[in-house]
Amino acid sequence: MKIAFIGLGNMGGGMAANLVKAGHEVRAFDLSAEAAARARENGAATAGSIREAVAGAEAVVTMLPNGKIVETVYGGDVIGHAPTDALLLDCSTIDVATAKRVAGQAAAAGYAMVDAPVSGGIAAANGGTLTFMVGGSDDAFARAEPILAKMGKAVIHAGAAGAGQAAKICNNMILGATMLVTCEAFALAQKLGLDSQVFYDISSKASGQSWSMTSYCPVPGVGPQSPADNDFQGGFATALMLKDLKLAVAAAQDAGASVPLGQRAEELYEAHDAAGHGGEDFSSVIRTL
Ligand code: NAD
Repeated sequence: MKIAFIGLGNMGGGMAANLVKAGHEVRAFDLSAEAAARARENGAATAGSIREAVAGAEAVVTMLPNGKIVETVYGGDVIGHAPTDALLLDCSTIDVATAKRVAGQAAAAGYAMVDAPVSGGIAAANGGTLTFMVGGSDDAFARAEPILAKMGKAVIHAGAAGAGQAAKICNNMILGATMLVTCEAFALAQKLGLDSQVFYDISSKASGQSWSMTSYCPVPGVGPQSPADNDFQGGFATALMLKDLKLAVAAAQDAGASVPLGQRAEELYEAHDAAGHGGEDFSSVIRTL
């Protein structure tokens, strides 16, 4: 299949490489010359513009930083420039309202489109083990599923347009809040004289267990290998967690939902980011608690 891939950064670079490995003919574009050069090393062809990349494509995949850029890219260079029978897949994490608006513009121009944000970081993007949460019609999902399956271990239909983004931000609101309370609990346990490993052995088998504890423990040397064991380098950056919490709190305001813990988590990650930890893994928040 001829696939145009736009946005070859930390995530998109590995995802495009996995589409090449699966035998797809990938024509890629990124504003960064270095990112494009890496895509060429991984077997993709590169184009000089988005319009050139999407010409003749059967599917267009985008992995871009935010909703504003997604709207500009689709409105300016994808819709009306890719063939109308091309399937459009936006894998970026963006706000629900923009995802719905762009899908509406695509539908009005005759395209099928899905929002398909991911769970899993750079290692999962490189390893082809992402989880995709997909919003769009049944037909669009059926067309998207085999393409996304080449880049992930799970592809789940969340509902209509925008539902993938809704699932993503709700999931990451749980992640942000559970990581904070896990960090607080380890810090408190230490102050109360409990050994961190002993506390882990107990809580990981008791009702305090969560993914933040047993897959991503914020205490070095405790639990499976995690960014805490690497001085909080790599992993999922604090700045990206903050981005997702802002999207969740804004969506809650639009929907009239009450998310006091989501709001508090946003404030705490905002302070952690402002203190210069934006590039560190989000579990480094344990240092400031
Ligand atoms: P990144 O900044 O590394 O990559 C984004 C790429 O898009 C860059 O290479 C940039 O040059 C390119 N770009 C920007 N504007 C462009 C344009 N107009 N045309 C073409 N290319 C353009 O970001 P990332 O970490 O790869 O994240 C991408 C998306 O995935 C974001 O929405 C992010 O929230 C989401 N996400 C990231 C992670 C993670 O761990 N990094 C995990 C899950 C989801």
